Amino acid sequence: QVASALLTATSLKVRYGAVEAVRGIDFEIRAGEIVAFLGANGAGKSSTLNALVGLVALASGKVVFDGHEITNGKPETLVSAGLTLSPEGRRIFPTLSVADNLRMGAYSVVSKQKVAEAWERVFELFPILYERRNQLSGTLSGGQQQMLAVGRALMSGPRLLLLDEPSLGLAPKIVEQIFELIVRLREHEVTMAIVEQNVAMCLEVADRGYVMASGRIVFQGNASELKSTTFLQDAYLGGN
Ligand code: ATP
Repeated sequence: QVASALLTATSLKVRYGAVEAVRGIDFEIRAGEIVAFLGANGAGKSSTLNALVGLVALASGKVVFDGHEITNGKPETLVSAGLTLSPEGRRIFPTLSVADNLRMGAYSVVSKQKVAEAWERVFELFPILYERRNQLSGTLSGGQQQMLAVGRALMSGPRLLLLDEPSLGLAPKIVEQIFELIVRLREHEVTMAIVEQNVAMCLEVADRGYVMASGRIVFQGNASELKSTTFLQDAYLGGN
């Protein structure tokens, strides 16, 4: 089971000064899966994803990706290795064109052929980004900006894509489109870990998930087990 894991995290801890945001968690993500990280605001989900990609330092623990230890690796090195985060809040560059934002996602890719393939794939997945490729990104709608953020992450050709709150702040119809996109990405053989407040939609697409509360994993299971566990309700009702 562990041998087939694309990513294995052991005893992860994240601290911000005196705040223990992640208090020693273990999990794994297997190739081809969609894995959900659920729980209330402040439970430590974003800190976990950010620590995997080297954006925040681990206080302790070990991360193995594709058979290599990557604990506290540099974000750009990890992107090259195939581990990419689409961050919460999208973080696109509003004064750059859509094409330039996408181009930045491919900065670590050396092979011209790989970059060409990535352009093709992103424009196939998001025809609207092709139509608007010369437009300033700040003029896109919220949903289109989220698609751009995901498209930019895909430009690096990730094997594991971490999505932090992809549906945040979007209208229900657009949220549906984002989840449809996630299903299509899986068909393109992208493994994903998703942090989401939209639990119902997330469990429609996820295979498996972890419920976090106060920096710990309090429940793990497949999507149907997650739908029926009281840990999930408790995690949201009980705050962090
Ligand atoms: P959210 O959905 O709100 O992002 P989360 O489950 O992703 O919640 P984190 O963002 O990882 O949780 O936050 C976990 C804890 O760490 C919270 O108590 C939060 O206030 C704290 N925290 C997060 N980032 C920082 C930071 N940069 N400095 C100090 N404390 C932080």
